[in-house]
Amino acid sequence: MGLHVSSHPLVLHKLALLRRVESEPKKFRELVREISQFLVYEATADMPLAPYTIQTPLGSMEGHAIGARIGLIPILRAGLGMVEPVIDLLPTAHVWHLGLYRDHNSLEPVTYYNKLPAQPDIDVCLILDPMLATGGSAVAAVDILKAWGAAKIKFLGLIAAPEGVERLQNAHPDVEIHLAALDERLNEQGYIVPGLGDAGDRQFGT
Ligand code: URA
Repeated sequence: MGLHVSSHPLVLHKLALLRRVESEPKKFRELVREISQFLVYEATADMPLAPYTIQTPLGSMEGHAIGARIGLIPILRAGLGMVEPVIDLLPTAHVWHLGLYRDHNSLEPVTYYNKLPAQPDIDVCLILDPMLATGGSAVAAVDILKAWGAAKIKFLGLIAAPEGVERLQNAHPDVEIHLAALDERLNEQGYIVPGLGDAGDRQFGT
C-alpha cells in the first residue's frame, strides 16, 4: 500500500545505464534528470485539476491546469539533481531545500539546513531524494514537514532498500513512495546493494 515501483521499460532501460560504474558524472546527471521526469509523471497522476476556458485558433473550449500548489523538497545534496527536471514539468512549484546528512557512525540523520517558511502554503510536498537507504533521512524529512503543517506528502526516489521502505512506511503510512527500483538490501555501511554507489558523489564527481 502506497508503494509504487515503476515497471516502465524506459525507466528500467535508463536505470541500468545509471547504475553502471562506467557512467561518468555528466551521463549520470542526465540519467537522473530523465528518470526523475518519469517518476514525477507517475507521482502526479492523481493531482487535482482546475478547469478554465481557453481559446484555440478554432474556438473556445475547457482546458485544465494543475489545481494543487506543489512544494518540492530536495534533500541536500543528492536530491539537487532531481529539482530541475521536476520543476521543468511543474514550473509553478516552490522549492524548499532540506539539508540532512547521515552520521557515518550512527547512520542517523542530522539536520543542517532548513529554511521552510512560517506558513505551509502548499497542498502537496514532493520529497526528492535519489536513495531511500536506511530511511532515517526520509522519516526525518517527513517529521519536519508534518510539524510544519504539510497536508499531503509523497516521496520520490530512484532506488530504495527494503529496510528504508519499511522504516518510512512504519513511521508514516500515509506517505506514498514512488521509486524506479526496489533493491535487495543494505550493506554494513548503509549502502544499497546492488544500488549505484553514492548518488551525491556520482552526480558531482566527488
Ligand atoms: N546514499 C547513497 O547515495 N547511496 C546509497 O547506496 C545509500 C545512501
